[in-house]
Amino acid sequence: MDTPNAPAEVVYQGIPASPGIAIGPVHAVPRGFAAPEVYEIEAAQIPHEQERFKAALEMTKRQLQELQRRLESLAGSEPGDIFEAHIMLLEDPAVVKRVLGAIESRLQNAEYVFYAVMQTYLEAMRRVPDAYLRERTADIEDVSQRVLRAFRNDAEPRHLPPDGSHILMAYDLSPSDTVGMDRRQILGFVTEQGSINSHTAIIARAFGIPAVVGLNASIIDVTTLSSVILDGYAGKLIIHPTQATLDRYVTLAREKKIVQNRVDAHRGAATETTDGQHVTVSANMELLDELDLVVNCGAKGIGLYRTEFLLLNGAEIPDENAQAEAYGRIVRALAPHRVIIRTLDAGGDKLPVEPLTEPEPNPFLGWRGIRVSLSRPAMFRDQIRAILRASALGQVAVMFPLVSGISEVERARDMIARCMDELDAEGVAFDRGIPVGIMVEVPSAAVCADILASKVDFFSIGTNDLIQYTVAADRVNPHVAELYRPTHPAVIRLIKRTIDAGRDHGIWTGICGEMAGDIRLTPLLIGMGATELSVGPQQVPRVGEAIRSVSHAECAAMADEAMRQTRSYDILNSSIEIARRSYGFLLD
Ligand code: PEP
Ligand code: MG
Repeated sequence: MDTPNAPAEVVYQGIPASPGIAIGPVHAVPRGFAAPEVYEIEAAQIPHEQERFKAALEMTKRQLQELQRRLESLAGSEPGDIFEAHIMLLEDPAVVKRVLGAIESRLQNAEYVFYAVMQTYLEAMRRVPDAYLRERTADIEDVSQRVLRAFRNDAEPRHLPPDGSHILMAYDLSPSDTVGMDRRQILGFVTEQGSINSHTAIIARAFGIPAVVGLNASIIDVTTLSSVILDGYAGKLIIHPTQATLDRYVTLAREKKIVQNRVDAHRGAATETTDGQHVTVSANMELLDELDLVVNCGAKGIGLYRTEFLLLNGAEIPDENAQAEAYGRIVRALAPHRVIIRTLDAGGDKLPVEPLTEPEPNPFLGWRGIRVSLSRPAMFRDQIRAILRASALGQVAVMFPLVSGISEVERARDMIARCMDELDAEGVAFDRGIPVGIMVEVPSAAVCADILASKVDFFSIGTNDLIQYTVAADRVNPHVAELYRPTHPAVIRLIKRTIDAGRDHGIWTGICGEMAGDIRLTPLLIGMGATELSVGPQQVPRVGEAIRSVSHAECAAMADEAMRQTRSYDILNSSIEIARRSYGFLLD
């Protein structure tokens, strides 16, 4: 009820990390952790305190291994590496040495010395400009608290959650916070930190818990509130909601549930238009942690596996064997469907393959994608051999990113031929007929699609990059976001030209950029002739439902007409018009 003295409704905007709506009381986890008691020790007690520290590390390691097993059984997955960073930290000789040395030099109790050492690491990490490293502070906080609890021989979580369902709010959540909690009581997650790829977001999506991350506001001062609204679709957190807002969200949640039930009922069903045109819906995958989600979302394969996370997230690039194992795991899990493995796409806005001696003036126009692989043949060879080895285990295709012309394709294919010869000579099995495709995401590749089509087995249009290069508007720069228009006539013409050139040469064309998951554009994309849409696993059921609801002939007529339209919003509206009429219930 709104009363004259009720606090005003406040809406915070964050990043929508996992769809869904949660309404309920909030449990806020305070930032950081309290210092343990400090006391002085005698020199004779040094060995005893050092032993206590080592015992606390050992106990923490055992607990983490137990949590890892629990995560695997919860998610039904094979061993993952979510706690690897934690365990590595516990085993880090530099940290251990520093704590042991500081016990001796400071003559203070082990838990306090450990706490002080970890604080210096945390402070340094919070200041680094690299978002990925900053996110790792949650791992360090988490492991530090575990060690401090181990000193007390106490395995309880740091802040007992309330009894009953609640929305968990934190500065950041560590993987063990997320996995160790009773998920039946968690209505949703909200964090100040984090990105779409933070562990919390991954786990929330995997378990279907609504989540908003990266809320750019200090919400942690908020203590327990009676009720808040978390909107995982729009990335909003609403505190002190008015009765009108609550009513609106209760209705919205009910409607979404009805739609979700309807969509879920068809999960995995064939994706044919009402007039019988088949369009494959496959999933994009970034992290091995997403494998279960991808397998269970109803996708008919993986249309884009971005290998840069596997290759560049660790301290060093995994060798051929480690890569072959990872690819093999994915291929076996997706069988009998196809997995398209994209070779490393480093550089640009992505992780660099190695530190550059001087920054590139234009990273997006620089050492990116296939250019990096071709200039690092040993690394490229490892990856191609690993992909080929995985091709013996199921349906595998390989694709190259950021191709700008024919010579790159020829050089990349030479590497494949060389690796095939080597594997043959070694008696190692692989699929000699492995389809080889390219991402069409540079305008020159789209314009020359007729030339490139004779060299490859399929095209996959990377609209994220194709749009930015076509309209010269950086895909991650908010100042030019207004110019970044997926339905710009130039973009639409390049997509159409690519699909037509492919068809003329007997090869298929899929779309794997974010545009493919925007169900307002499904009529346009399939109307232009795309035969595969590869989208985030959460979008797979909705895109499938959209396809089943439209007439291909009607979409094709609209797409033809779109080629004559001069303004992006007219093209967008033509597609939305069919979408609304055919599956309006799915649109947000
Ligand atoms: C694209 O550019 O559309 C694409 C799918 O590749 P990425 O987003 O990984 O650059
Ligand atoms: Mg791209």
